[in-house]
Amino acid sequence: MTAGCPSAGAPVLRERGQHEVFCGLTSIIWLHRKMQDAFFLVVGSRTCAHLLQSAAGVMIFAEPRFGTAILEESDLAGMADAQAEIDREVARLLSRRSDIRQLFLVGSCPSEVIKLDLAKAAERLDAQFAPQVRVLNFSGSGIETTFTEGEDACLAALAPRLPASDKRQLLVLGALPDVVEDQMRGLLAEIGIPEVAVLPARRAGDDPAIGPHTRFALAQPFLGDTMAALERRGARHIAAPFPFGEEGTTAWLTAVAAAFGIPAERVEAVTAAPRARARKAISAARETLDGKSIFFFPDSQLEVPLARFLARECGMRPVEVGTPYLHRGILGPDLALLGDGPRLSEGQDVERQLDRLRADRPDLTVCGLGLANPLEAEGLATKWAIELVFTPVHFYEQAGDLAGLFARPLRRRALLTPGVAA
Ligand code: SF4
Repeated sequence: MTAGCPSAGAPVLRERGQHEVFCGLTSIIWLHRKMQDAFFLVVGSRTCAHLLQSAAGVMIFAEPRFGTAILEESDLAGMADAQAEIDREVARLLSRRSDIRQLFLVGSCPSEVIKLDLAKAAERLDAQFAPQVRVLNFSGSGIETTFTEGEDACLAALAPRLPASDKRQLLVLGALPDVVEDQMRGLLAEIGIPEVAVLPARRAGDDPAIGPHTRFALAQPFLGDTMAALERRGARHIAAPFPFGEEGTTAWLTAVAAAFGIPAERVEAVTAAPRARARKAISAARETLDGKSIFFFPDSQLEVPLARFLARECGMRPVEVGTPYLHRGILGPDLALLGDGPRLSEGQDVERQLDRLRADRPDLTVCGLGLANPLEAEGLATKWAIELVFTPVHFYEQAGDLAGLFARPLRRRALLTPGVAA
């Protein structure tokens, strides 16, 4: 069950049991906001349609850029030609919507169970609708481990289609809210990084070109397959802690700068003011967080960098840091900063993990929606992991908000429970 973790020297508890997470379809909610000319067509069941509808409830009055082609019983029984039905649905959609430049056919549990070949469908439709529309496919099914894998699968599908370039440039990987992406571009420009590309781009026409002189940095830790796809194209990864909090952001910028021959002193000089702002903003939440224990269930894949931020910048004490995957090539720098204190776990066996949680009785538990309410009923304060992906949390200007996300449930519990100090 345990093995050494070379990055941090800490033992890792590996579990392969029942897990409690959302499926990768959830990623469509933030991906469709970011990729403004993309449409995500889920080939799935009514359950898949309901998941998307409830996750994206606030978008109900907007022109949707995602939908579900419902597999009926006749499809599931193999009685209808599902490939022909997909062709008809896509033709109908594209004839109505001239704004769509990229169409993703998204696999689900039902489409995978009946082994519907969406790669073949995407290839056929891509040839039919090129060059006006690009058609790709990826899986968002719950057969994968966790919800952020949807973004990884989407970007990994895009990577082989990116144009080639010999340009020396930085590529930043991961869908950030536009306002955060603009802040990041501003910082990188001031530091002196000349060419910055981002994947995913806001529009298909802005796709980055990549090649052997592309250095890429991850803005999200859940992009292992995309990272491997870019490395196959010759691009090289810049290992760095993730840009959460003042320390993480500075370390990320310093590593990126170093890859382009820019000294740390330059980063320090350029970032002095935003670093001070971030520290001040964090200190407001630190009053609540300092000394409190925290337990992470494996969910968003942000757990290790967030535990590092909360321990080092907010004074929290992580007791267990669970993550769906412990990708050392990606998480190594954060693991090294996190040190040997917390118990690390990879994968999940939810009943055993609940036993450990009840023994630890942490001040705050980060978990999925399905676990949060029962745990609140047991008197434990919880934080929904999914909020950490839906809320802008990267770089200096969001550092205070990030700390505040963890302070709020503790303050709420203190107000509701006489005798509990915030
Ligand atoms: S893809 Fe699977 S887990 Fe996700 S909503 Fe559809 S049936 Fe449920």
